[in-house]
Amino acid sequence: MAVLDQSYKPQLHTDVEVLPDSELGFILHHRTGGQNCRISKHAQPLIPFLDGQHTLTDLQSHLQQAVGRPVSLDQVATFITLLGHQGMLVDSEARFDAKPMQRREGCWSRLMHLRIPLVQGDRFLQPVAALLRRLPAAPLKLLLVLLLLNGLIAPFLLLLTSQIQLSFTPGILDTSGLMILAALIVAEIIVHEIAHGLSLTLLGGQTRDFGVGIHYFLIPYAYTNTTDAYRLNRRGRILVSLAGPMVDLSLLGINAMLLSTGLLSPGASQIIIIWMSFQATILLWNANPFLPFDGYYVLADLLNEPALRREAFRYLRSLPRRLLGRAAADRHTPRQRRIYLGYGLLTAVYMVGFLSYGFLLTLAAFPNYMR
Ligand SMILES: [Zn+2]
Repeated sequence: MAVLDQSYKPQLHTDVEVLPDSELGFILHHRTGGQNCRISKHAQPLIPFLDGQHTLTDLQSHLQQAVGRPVSLDQVATFITLLGHQGMLVDSEARFDAKPMQRREGCWSRLMHLRIPLVQGDRFLQPVAALLRRLPAAPLKLLLVLLLLNGLIAPFLLLLTSQIQLSFTPGILDTSGLMILAALIVAEIIVHEIAHGLSLTLLGGQTRDFGVGIHYFLIPYAYTNTTDAYRLNRRGRILVSLAGPMVDLSLLGINAMLLSTGLLSPGASQIIIIWMSFQATILLWNANPFLPFDGYYVLADLLNEPALRREAFRYLRSLPRRLLGRAAADRHTPRQRRIYLGYGLLTAVYMVGFLSYGFLLTLAAFPNYMR
């Protein structure tokens, strides 16, 4: 199936670094493109020889020596083709028709997922992590578990048992009350992002930058650049993704407890009630796997598909050609095809529904324009 010439000498792109991935093998990370490609442990001995000096036949004999069993030339060519399609080789674009790295992260995608980096993460996270490492771990973990359990239980208890009216009363909050509320919400967003970065730093990764952005010109978000989470194992990556929502859940529980004491003034209660509805909204947003927020990354890691979104969309785009029988050889397993099809279709339906809902809301907000 592979159409590569035996004398072809593949060379890894200079921007590609090899990251260990303890469970499954290794990850090739393209620094400029942000692209990641997972390779199996068995193919790893080939990496040092992808220097533009060794032909496919050389690679075949190196690999046979390394693994101690026969390897076909076809297997080597298939592997190289995979790297080529992923843009990991110097001549990926010319030979394998891979999209140029700049274009993939290019204008359109950058506008749709606009990001403005604000702070370098590791400079202040390393000292905090060093301090935390000196504290006793067991009590800290216990405290975290209690906070999370409280976050899961206390809001429901409050809803079921509270005598306090859990509704918004316009007019109770004056300007200072609104400013306190805004400050609390901004502080929570910052702590949420720090939690992602801090967990990554604690697990031995490097947090690059913190910043703000906007998805699809519509949905504002704050972000932590946790690209280095790919250095961690799957459990570590899931923990990094969950660290932010853990902050929201803990604070939601603390607020529910505060409110249920009944000791707060009407103004303070109102601040807490609105703050809690923000927290519940953020938790639901993040649990939504159809947008690239925390829940999506947890799902991607649970499915062991680190590039789930991109691969699913790419698979959907290739479907028409595939159905006409004009697609190139399929490198996906049947499991991957099912996942990409399911996730891609659900996300497409969700996005169309979400955007038309937003459009209708906008129309309803300006009824005069409709006449
Ligand atoms: Zn988050």
